[in-house]
Amino acid sequence: MISRIAKWVRLWALSTFATALFSSSAVAQDKLKVVVTIPDLADLVQEVGGERVAVTTICRGKENLHAVTPRPSHLVALSKADLFVQIGLSLETSFVPGLIEQCGNAKVKPGGAGFVNGSEGWSAIDVPRDLSRQGGDLHPQGNPHMNLDPRAGRHLVERIYAGLCRVDAASKPLYTERRDAYLTRLAVAEERWSKLGASWKGKPVVVYHQEYSYLIARYELAPCGAIESKPGIPPTPNHIAELVGRMKAANCATILTAIWSNGDQVERVAEATGARTVELPNMCGGIAGSETWIGMMDLVHRRLDEAIGMSAPQK
Ligand SMILES: [Zn+2]
Repeated sequence: MISRIAKWVRLWALSTFATALFSSSAVAQDKLKVVVTIPDLADLVQEVGGERVAVTTICRGKENLHAVTPRPSHLVALSKADLFVQIGLSLETSFVPGLIEQCGNAKVKPGGAGFVNGSEGWSAIDVPRDLSRQGGDLHPQGNPHMNLDPRAGRHLVERIYAGLCRVDAASKPLYTERRDAYLTRLAVAEERWSKLGASWKGKPVVVYHQEYSYLIARYELAPCGAIESKPGIPPTPNHIAELVGRMKAANCATILTAIWSNGDQVERVAEATGARTVELPNMCGGIAGSETWIGMMDLVHRRLDEAIGMSAPQK
């Protein structure tokens, strides 16, 4: 990854820098340049920053977040950024360290005024006791998919607000007003989600990957296991057989999957158990209607509610 990025740097130095620099409009140059890892953060930065910010997003909503290939344009954007926002908890390990190392912009490196770690101050769940590869190596700092917790919008907005005020103190009144307006809208949405989720307590669900663990914990659903053996490790036939047995015993009729999940394995488990597969976005834009963070969480809650309602035990 590092050598690939070093090659981009050379290419960029030869040709693309001038083009990228001069193609930006005068308006865009007046704005605060923000680079974010996932579309969820882009939406939240836009909500707080409004017209003051120009946002570049590295991941697209349908990608597997654990294996993202950044483009040379992302390196160019990061080299000129005033603010960089990530989720952290090793969610973006496949691409952030290389970009940060090569961008030559001290401001957006960890410890710099323009570096925002969205999960700072967040209590991660599923923190492994053993960090060996046998335990899966995708979630070494605990579950990083906190953007799918219904409480995450509030947490992330505060981190973003603090970062924007740090690098652009003159606009603090604007950021404060916009943050407060967003939190007011968010409170209405959170109430809507709580009402839906209140009836899900104790309902058994299986996931492909542990993306929805915060959601499951928040509403006290009954996790019946994951189709992956460990985060990032495909299932063995034994693991599938055990899972199928557990699902049948628990009368588990719902499998939660993201758009990137392994369709064949999910299909096998669904066929063996008769369970219904529910496809959910794992970040904004993954599925039509999930372009904003509130819109994505509305869609997640609606789909989950429909699935759980239809999957009620037939006893
Ligand atoms: Zn993961």
